[in-house]
Amino acid sequence: MSTIFSQIVEGEIPARVVYEDETTIAFLDANPLAPGHTLVVPKDEYERLNNVPDDVATDLYATIHRLTPAIEEAVDADATTVAFNNGEAAGQEVPHVHCHIVPRFEGDDAGPIHSAFGGPEAIPDDELDEIAEAIESRA
Ligand code: AMP
Repeated sequence: MSTIFSQIVEGEIPARVVYEDETTIAFLDANPLAPGHTLVVPKDEYERLNNVPDDVATDLYATIHRLTPAIEEAVDADATTVAFNNGEAAGQEVPHVHCHIVPRFEGDDAGPIHSAFGGPEAIPDDELDEIAEAIESRA
């Protein structure tokens, strides 16, 4: 069964499409966190970021890069929060990779992405060394 975003790509359900090219599409979020909240989506279905092929990842970033200033200018935003909920445990509800571009305004009180967490976690230095090594060896 195709995702709701694939149905938008296919024109089966309506959306306020703001940009489209061969491999990516962007449309307004149906439940906007702020005016101009936009989703950027690869047209093909990939559940998580690690499933996205390199060439599509490049196209996806190019669309994010193109749209972020366009959105800020269109709604006169002071800034944007640009984020992926990558996986169910991170709050991803639609299993089709999508980037949220959320316009931000001085005094909107939403805080940085850090405010989604309780605060920094105290991790001992030797553990940080191990984590860094584990990531570096897989990068
Ligand atoms: P996430 O929690 O990261 O998976 O976000 C999914 C987002 O998709 C939410 O912000 C929803 O408001 C948005 N959404 C769900 N259905 C639609 C739709 N038909 N058109 C536009 N946005 C949608």
